[in-house]
Amino acid sequence: MNSTPSKPDKPAKASAADLGVCPTLDVAAICRNLLQWYRKHKRDLPWRRTEDPYRIWVSEIMLQQTRVAAVIPYYERFLALYPDIPALASAPEAELLAAWAGLGYYSRARNLQKAARAILKLPQFPSDYAALRELPGVGDYTAAAVASIAFGRPHAVLDGNVLRVLSRMTADPGNIKSDTVRKKLRALAETLLDRRRPGEFNQALMELGATVCVPKQPLCGDCPVRLHCQARRQGLENQLPLTGARPIASRQQKHLLVIERAGKILLWQRPSDSRRLAGFWELPEREQVTGATVQDEVAGFRHTIVNTTYLVQVYRATLQSRPKGFRWHAKNKLGELPLSTIAKKALILVTFCR
Ligand code: SF4
Repeated sequence: MNSTPSKPDKPAKASAADLGVCPTLDVAAICRNLLQWYRKHKRDLPWRRTEDPYRIWVSEIMLQQTRVAAVIPYYERFLALYPDIPALASAPEAELLAAWAGLGYYSRARNLQKAARAILKLPQFPSDYAALRELPGVGDYTAAAVASIAFGRPHAVLDGNVLRVLSRMTADPGNIKSDTVRKKLRALAETLLDRRRPGEFNQALMELGATVCVPKQPLCGDCPVRLHCQARRQGLENQLPLTGARPIASRQQKHLLVIERAGKILLWQRPSDSRRLAGFWELPEREQVTGATVQDEVAGFRHTIVNTTYLVQVYRATLQSRPKGFRWHAKNKLGELPLSTIAKKALILVTFCR
């Protein structure tokens, strides 16, 4: 397996005017100011200390839907367990999911492993956008991020941070969730991209969105591109970008039973084709074990997944015989199982409320 970066594509930059995108922007000055700022102010993050495409790819997958601060400990633990592609490809699924537990969106872990197995069949780590895009779990954003950061390929990334910065910089009045606006901002991102340093430029733009041009009350006084920002000039930085209506949030009640016998806890496993948390172990819900006798109510907590808030009530209960589809698991071995976060929270509550 060879993961040596190959030579970047030849620079071939179109101007903003050529693309009909905000021709008033001073592209050269924006690039220069942004890169200077990034070199001085970028956060020291573990995946910025490596040129290994495997490690960069793992970080990009973990960072999808998850905050940087939450990712760091998982990233370091994950790479200690699976330091290279062969180690990830051969990991037992239960162990892999346990290592991912808490990060959520578990299909990312499964796809990482599928992709690792696919890469092992290739002569080297794929270095161009199209080949990366073929890997399971790698979408437009991840392919562009890995191609540019690990291999110096000239592809602009477009994530939420970049969309927000560009929408403000051009004072775009459109909804950034619409295809038309995204297309326009993608063309702008490609125009601005510094083709000699695409990885650094992409990271700089994302870093600006993550630390300065933040969703609420952007820190325009600290912004390296403030002189080129239309939203700032028009006093619209707190109104933009437009994102449309938020999806309606829902609530669901859950009554979980902690049934313990001889140092073991009763659990059930989600099937491998489950839409959510496939293969994860859960505590039984009250309606699943009708023969259980509730002893006492322990406490409750809330847990939000995407737009659904679960109001979880936890009870201690007893049971005469094990129902079909359930298994007893030794309490001292639960750490080795992929347990859902809700089950983990409930078990922690029971431990503290003894
Ligand atoms: Fe964002 Fe303000 Fe910078 Fe404009 S000046 S890009 S609104 S931080």
